[in-house]
Amino acid sequence: MDLLPADPPAAPARLWAGLDEPWQEAFRQAWEALRSGSIAVGACASTADGEIIRSARNRVNDDQGPPGEIFGSALAHAETNVLARLPFHSHRDLVLTTTLEPCLQCAAAIRFGPIATVRFAGPDRYWDGCHDFGKLSAREARRVQPARTGPRGDELGTFAALIARIGPGLTPRYEEALRALGDGPIADLAHELEEGGEVARLTAMDVGQALGYLWPRLPSAGSRAR
Ligand SMILES: [Zn+2]
Repeated sequence: MDLLPADPPAAPARLWAGLDEPWQEAFRQAWEALRSGSIAVGACASTADGEIIRSARNRVNDDQGPPGEIFGSALAHAETNVLARLPFHSHRDLVLTTTLEPCLQCAAAIRFGPIATVRFAGPDRYWDGCHDFGKLSAREARRVQPARTGPRGDELGTFAALIARIGPGLTPRYEEALRALGDGPIADLAHELEEGGEVARLTAMDVGQALGYLWPRLPSAGSRAR
């Protein structure tokens, strides 16, 4: 069987081609994480006009990484690794683009970083609300919080949430919590891909091709109960 249909669907190719470079880079990083056996989340920091300053990926299961990044640790998240390598006080007002809604740890790292705007593709309802440090103290409430956009309501957002659930990202307790939050269809599809042996086929593709391959099976954002 061929890895790819002879005529790739137009809609995913159009969506992919229309993404700006930081979005594409974040997804390329996420894909490399999946190929490396870590959790498929990628991120990058860019200037407001799109120049990428740093990009990084999840490395929880990696046994090496670039100097200054965390690897082989539960703390080795994509956004944390981007922020860890930004020179101290050398930038302001950067845009952090990440494939998945930041967790509590990464939200805190963003709070310490020179980030004016956070963009994320897929929802991670487990961490919904864990970025709002203004509730913690009067001082935090006075600080300007980064602008936040996400999750994307399109197939790319669903794709981002799905790939993060393939492999080591979906522990039984986490899965139980996600199902209770309405993400059962995503968890079901992640299991279907793993049990059907499709993950190896997927990782042989590049991430844009994988988006096209999975596109017809992505649960629509509207089908996921809130
Ligand atoms: Zn994180």
